[in-house]
Amino acid sequence: MNDDKLPDCCENADCCGNGEKKRQKKEVELTPYGRIRRKGKRERVSVPMPEQEPLVRAKNFDEVPLGYMAEMAMQEAQRCFQCKGERARCVPNCPVGINIPKFLDEVAEGDFQAAIMTVMEDNLLPAICGRVCPQEEQCQMECIGGKRGEPAMIGRLERFVADWYAVHGEKPEPMTPPEGAQKVAVVGSGPSGLTAAADLAKKGYDVTIFEALHRPGGVLVYGIPEFRLPKRIIDREVENIKLLGVKIYLNAMIGKLFTVDTLMNEKGFEAVYLGVGAGLPYMMNVAGKNLKGVYTANEFLSRVNLMKSYEFPKSPTPLKVGENVAVVGGGNVAMDSVRTALRIGAENVHLVYRRSEAEMPARNEEIHHAKEEGVQFHLLTNPVELIGDDDGHVRAVKCVKMELGEPDDSGRRRPVVIEGSEHELLADNFVFAIGQGPNPILPATTPGLKTDKWGCFLVDDSQMTSIPGVFAGGDITGGATVITAMGDGRTAANGIDRYLTARREEAEAVRQ
Ligand SMILES: Cc1cc2nc3c(=O)[nH]c(=O)nc-3n(C[C@H](O)[C@H](O)[C@H](O)COP(=O)(O)OP(=O)(O)OC[C@H]3O[C@@H](n4cnc5c(N)ncnc54)[C@H](O)[C@@H]3O)c2cc1C
Repeated sequence: MNDDKLPDCCENADCCGNGEKKRQKKEVELTPYGRIRRKGKRERVSVPMPEQEPLVRAKNFDEVPLGYMAEMAMQEAQRCFQCKGERARCVPNCPVGINIPKFLDEVAEGDFQAAIMTVMEDNLLPAICGRVCPQEEQCQMECIGGKRGEPAMIGRLERFVADWYAVHGEKPEPMTPPEGAQKVAVVGSGPSGLTAAADLAKKGYDVTIFEALHRPGGVLVYGIPEFRLPKRIIDREVENIKLLGVKIYLNAMIGKLFTVDTLMNEKGFEAVYLGVGAGLPYMMNVAGKNLKGVYTANEFLSRVNLMKSYEFPKSPTPLKVGENVAVVGGGNVAMDSVRTALRIGAENVHLVYRRSEAEMPARNEEIHHAKEEGVQFHLLTNPVELIGDDDGHVRAVKCVKMELGEPDDSGRRRPVVIEGSEHELLADNFVFAIGQGPNPILPATTPGLKTDKWGCFLVDDSQMTSIPGVFAGGDITGGATVITAMGDGRTAANGIDRYLTARREEAEAVRQ
């Protein structure tokens, strides 16, 4: 190619426009992994990530994708166009604003310590986000690489640097809050609470998390299965947050042990962050929902993930499934339930969803993995009755076929029943995975805490609720992903900082 001409990747008016030529000429220094030349065009397809074979993994709880090796990560990172400023669309599409081009450049150079430090400036849960964030709808969605091929695999690279750090990285010294630091309580240790706590500790506050369960992590520990997010990874990232001086009290249900009012008026907390998630499962109003063998996804997954029922009798909580299991729903929770059912011994696992695959809210990767593992998809199908045997145990599910009509309020086409389409699926177990909502315990015990009609807490732009000094975010304010929960936690930490700074300044003014 003539040097004066733009490389063909720059024909696109929407491109990075910042010196592809310059970058192609650049030859990086010798790294521990060998000399990598950034010459020629970028690969249009990503470096594949190795994973367990479908029929092997469908019978074990080990993680499905195995992660990149260093050379693979460097090669993949070199696919980044290093867009600058506003052209780097990956950054505003990341709810916590990681400097993605910088960290990818550092990975490309083999400087993994620098890369993880760049990531951790904005995200203290990188091994988690690298595994479960819907990158295809966020950072990777508008990547320039995706215009002519595949985007740079930002999530896989985030996972790589986080895992590298766990083994090789230089860890910071443990911190303690400064003398006389103002106290903040964080209720809930899901991704939202953990992010708010970490940011507040970094800002110099004395932070205590109160968690109702016996393990920190929220849905990350009780909902998302081991084969997608190993629990040791959550423990590892929680330990990094504790190193910042954050204290965590487990088995501490706020609303029962203490009220929010007690925390603020008797326990000395000057602000409270409510990151309590939406853990109350919904069920469909169908006949037979109280039969034996029927679960909500919340109970089904908690028994497996949190109580480790698949290790019964070593673990004391059993979960018996029969040969046939049916799950209703089309989101990540439904995918986790069907894939879990396979792993605990079901032979035929049916996913029943009333719309078509295009409308499924689950991540594409999860749908793909479930299909590969042998889950049978019954699309445009809806359960109308659960049929029991003489012992009151579910035996089958009566379903109807659906077709898509006009779009509803959500913009998705409304499913309409096809008359005369009733049929039965054999099901020894049935799982409702159709969503979950807020637990009413905090509104019931916190006078003045305003909610919307679904029970979600109302907040302003800084995530402050109707009560001064009480902030909230994550699923309890309507979020639905790990990274949006984290984004809310960050916004709230900034809001709490402004609120407490103003209080401190007021108190000083009164003293003078
Ligand atoms: C099965 C499943 C799979 C999912 N998969 C994905 C995925 O792949 N990618 C993705 O981005 N998102 C996924 N999500 C959604 C994501 O997990 C949530 O959006 C996210 O965890 C919300 O974070 P949070 O901090 O708001 O709440 P949570 O994670 O729900 O954490 C809330 C915590 O608060 C605690 N708590 C509640 N009430 C109290 C109280 N009164 N006192 C003390 N503690 C309390 C709870 O015990 C819990 O630990 C999934 C959800 C589920 C259920």
